[in-house]
Amino acid sequence: MEPRLALALALLCSALQAAPAGPQRARSALGQFWHVSDLHLDPTYHITPDRTKVCSSSKGVNASNPGPFGDFLCDSPYQLILSAFEFMNDSKEQVSFMIWTGDSPPHVHVKELSTELVISIIGNLSSTIRNFFPDLQVFPALGNHDYWPQDQLPVTTSEVYNAVADFWKPWLNDEAISTFRKGGFYTQLFESSNSYQPLRIISLNTNLYYSPNKVTVNITDPANQFAWLEEILETSSQKKEKVYIIGHVPVGYLPYARNTTAIREYYNERLVKIFRKYSSVIAGQFFGHTHRDSIMVLLDEEEKPVNSLFVAPAVTPVKSVLQTESNNPGVRLYQYDLFDYSLQDLWQFYLDLRDANKKNESNWKLEYILTKTYGIEDLKPESLYEMAKQLSVPNSTLFEQYYSNYIVSYDKTIRCEEGCKTCQICAIQYLDYSSYTDCINHEAVWR
Ligand SMILES: [Zn+2]
Ligand SMILES: [Zn+2]
Repeated sequence: MEPRLALALALLCSALQAAPAGPQRARSALGQFWHVSDLHLDPTYHITPDRTKVCSSSKGVNASNPGPFGDFLCDSPYQLILSAFEFMNDSKEQVSFMIWTGDSPPHVHVKELSTELVISIIGNLSSTIRNFFPDLQVFPALGNHDYWPQDQLPVTTSEVYNAVADFWKPWLNDEAISTFRKGGFYTQLFESSNSYQPLRIISLNTNLYYSPNKVTVNITDPANQFAWLEEILETSSQKKEKVYIIGHVPVGYLPYARNTTAIREYYNERLVKIFRKYSSVIAGQFFGHTHRDSIMVLLDEEEKPVNSLFVAPAVTPVKSVLQTESNNPGVRLYQYDLFDYSLQDLWQFYLDLRDANKKNESNWKLEYILTKTYGIEDLKPESLYEMAKQLSVPNSTLFEQYYSNYIVSYDKTIRCEEGCKTCQICAIQYLDYSSYTDCINHEAVWR
């Protein structure tokens, strides 16, 4: 018997022996981690009778119903962000690490920010997290707002990359920090005493591929991140490592818009190709940016599900005045198998913002448990694909639930039908141009 396998079995046996009988038995072989995204702190947020002056992020529009924990037309007051971390801390959930997928500064006019301000906000939130979880390993990723001017993240070293690297030194090793300084991305191994092999985290700077980034127009491989990624994945594959990909702007199609990828189509095709090639190494992918809760399942050329991808909802509740829907603030907990890092479940927590403001109390609570809500076994690609098929059924009540979760229980009366549902369903299952276009063109068949 291979020593590693023997160790795995020994760990498994001891874990099972230690656990009480019943449904908790399976949970004892699980690890957990937190995922937070899109904090978007608005330092100007304050309660004042003139509602146009509550927050800069409302851009002169009246805040809708401002309270101590925020407003749907404003980015996060610091108190909201504190309440999220307080909740996570008080929950006493045993976690091995946390992923934090970017976007710290507020949505305000470019003139209201500066390189200095953006740096100081990222620094402030990095130390907020450190203060709450001084011993916890955090794996951060940069967002498109984590730069000034926003979206214009560069392909070489910069003042922001350097400053952020210094903030993240307590979490990242020297090699990761030095890679980060050059392009805003890194990789690092996570080693833990209770799992039988280390996990490789790859934190991508997908903001280099984001459509509004003018710096990278006409660059085929910005900051040589594709070449770097392939090299890391190739080595991981040879070493039989398991990898989690984290990043801010997600790959694939936006679930709320027709025929629109968040990153440029050329980059999207290239990423999908890499993720397909190395799907056996990649045990999960985690993004933010859309501020909504959605899943994607990557299929290979033969329509076999090969990868599970998750987009976590934002902590900020902000929407623009033109949007009809927003999201309640959310944070989530993932459960993974300690032996192969396959994803077993996710627990989505949220703050009912209207209720919290009314009661002047931040009552964060469980919104849903993914496997229970959708009746699937785990979060492996096959299971998510099964879930996607269920959601595609005409008049599926499960899809209504999915949509309510998508907006983090913002408004249970909002329905997503016809064209809205088409975009959601196609975005879940089809990440590349040809299969997505096929799906959109055949919507009448399955709707
Ligand atoms: Zn954001
Ligand atoms: Zn973003």
